[in-house]
Amino acid sequence: MAETIDCAVIGAGVVGLAVGRRLAMTGREVVVLESEEHFGTHTSSRNSEVIHAGIYYPTGSLKARLCVAGRNALYRYCTEHAVNHRRIGKVIVACDDSELAGLGKYYEQAVTNGCADLRMLNAAELRGMEPEVRCVAGFLSPSTGIIDAHGLMLSYLGDMEEHGGALALASAVLAGEVTAQGIMLEVGGAEPMALLCRTVVNCAGLHAQAVARTIAGVPQESVPPTYYAIGHYYTLSGRSPFNRLIYPVARQDWLGVHVTIDLGGQVKFGPDFTWIDRIDYAFDESREQAFYAAIRRYYPGLRDGALQPGYTGIRPKIHAPGTPGPDFRIEGPREHGIRGLVNLYGIESPGLTSSLAIADYVHELLANASEVPSA
Ligand SMILES: Cc1cc2nc3c(=O)[nH]c(=O)nc-3n(C[C@H](O)[C@H](O)[C@H](O)COP(=O)(O)OP(=O)(O)OC[C@H]3O[C@@H](n4cnc5c(N)ncnc54)[C@H](O)[C@@H]3O)c2cc1C
Repeated sequence: MAETIDCAVIGAGVVGLAVGRRLAMTGREVVVLESEEHFGTHTSSRNSEVIHAGIYYPTGSLKARLCVAGRNALYRYCTEHAVNHRRIGKVIVACDDSELAGLGKYYEQAVTNGCADLRMLNAAELRGMEPEVRCVAGFLSPSTGIIDAHGLMLSYLGDMEEHGGALALASAVLAGEVTAQGIMLEVGGAEPMALLCRTVVNCAGLHAQAVARTIAGVPQESVPPTYYAIGHYYTLSGRSPFNRLIYPVARQDWLGVHVTIDLGGQVKFGPDFTWIDRIDYAFDESREQAFYAAIRRYYPGLRDGALQPGYTGIRPKIHAPGTPGPDFRIEGPREHGIRGLVNLYGIESPGLTSSLAIADYVHELLANASEVPSA
């Protein structure tokens, strides 16, 4: 006999917990199913912990809209719920004249996206603010911040549980089937069970496509291909020579080796970018010299031996190497035709910043889909 539930959210990363919280707070019965023994052990704990302002993303994209909305909501949320964070600000810098055009493009895109508080800076102003940084120009984004991602997830979980939602750890979704009664999920773990759900939200991150493919009845052509790209972080020993986050103008389609500072004052450089074939968080120490070279373009004072291997994170990609990076893909019944199902694919950066706005978006997709016929 299958157990029945109103909503199952697959995956307890920051996005799954934000969605579970949102649905529970509207009065729905929610369980978040997580395959690991703890929540948030994958991408949500292997990132830069930056609250992004919304600078880089194409006009009107979900990334641009949900980042700006999510950032505003997140600052309010952190203040109201005492989640540790700091509006530390960031400067984006051009290291030489060849990067000025790129810097100008970022500025214009950011203003279009609704970042209203940016300030252009000349080299002298930047020297006053960040004496260790060598550059010819830059701009300040005062609304960029840093956050304790684990504390945020704990707070989302607390809200969800207060509203009757539950987290089931060590409960991997193994398969599923779309039926006339709802979506049947086969859940593994110590007490395997079949769960008949009115609503399923697939927030399985790096595994979202694999999960969607195991649900019989989901159109296979609606599931994007799976790619991964690893990023390494090196940490800096000693006190921070920087007062804010420092981002060079990107030379590729990722943000370059930039500086982030965590809430404990630890400086991290990264992440870099390499396509990989499978999920493997192993740290490749052969990258060290490339990091020294990239960092010394804007921080010439970096001493030999000052970098220590930190950690890695893996970006859940839905596009092939060499093709332009697409938007978040958040698909509800209108896109794939299955009543009660939402799939989230390619939720890379700025997914942490956008988590509250993504949860609102999912809620709206489900609320507006009542007229879609079931499969
Ligand atoms: C290197 C890097 C740096 C980043 N920096 C930032 C940043 O500074 N700011 C920002 O806003 N964003 C950043 N991001 C993006 C952000 O970290 C992600 O968008 C966010 O963490 C995604 O959360 P998630 O819940 O979708 O995925 P995850 O955290 O990966 O959670 C998915 C969960 O699903 C579970 N799961 C998988 N399969 C199953 C299954 N079959 N059954 C049950 N559970 C399952 C997994 O165990 C996991 O816990 C960064 C990402 C990377 C890779």
